[in-house]
Amino acid sequence: MERLQAAPDQTGPDSLLSHWSLVYRPLAKNRGRRPALFLDRDGVIIEDVNYISDPNDVQLIPGVGETIRHFRSAGFTVVVVTNQSGIARGYFDRDAYLRVERRIRELLAADEPDAVYACPFHKDGRPPYNVEHPWRKPSDGMLRASSVALGIDLKKSLMVGDSLSDIQAATAAGVARAFHVLTGHGRMHRAKVEQLCETLDTRAPSSTQVSCVDSIATVFSAFQAS
Ligand SMILES: [Mg+2]
Repeated sequence: MERLQAAPDQTGPDSLLSHWSLVYRPLAKNRGRRPALFLDRDGVIIEDVNYISDPNDVQLIPGVGETIRHFRSAGFTVVVVTNQSGIARGYFDRDAYLRVERRIRELLAADEPDAVYACPFHKDGRPPYNVEHPWRKPSDGMLRASSVALGIDLKKSLMVGDSLSDIQAATAAGVARAFHVLTGHGRMHRAKVEQLCETLDTRAPSSTQVSCVDSIATVFSAFQAS
């Protein structure tokens, strides 16, 4: 006999999630599970200007387009995973977020990512976003949700981030490799990332290998060199 499942909660915070996962490029059919290049946004793809809400402030970090192009040619799906607590905190709204996204797509043109997942939640924010949500890095909810929706093999995937929480999300999801960059908050977080590396059991088969690089511009060559 079939068991009835509880109806999904259509009023809780998870009913909002479809607003915050944007798929820009059609996914190829019958392609199996592919690796992803997960990218943090602020401080990795664009200069971090603290709660960016004006499209005129968008400035690409050099090398991002080439890096996306190289990984896409190598068979990777490119997924941006970005904490946007400025929404919960009331600093800007979804329309402002979308205007910034549109500007980033314009500047990246053919090198735009396949999808963008954003986490608008923060426990100290305003309703309905004032929850501790599993999408918020250092939790790995955005990586896991996109892996289900987009057919991603997490164990073969990579993450690039400037914050300790990006690297923690990568290790929580069990991706193969994480790259810490010095752009954005990278300089401030590098020592903490190095401390985290000392605690990782690199012999464990599911362990994430963490590499420290200068910026997104050197990630593809660092990936190829290993
Ligand atoms: Mg960042």
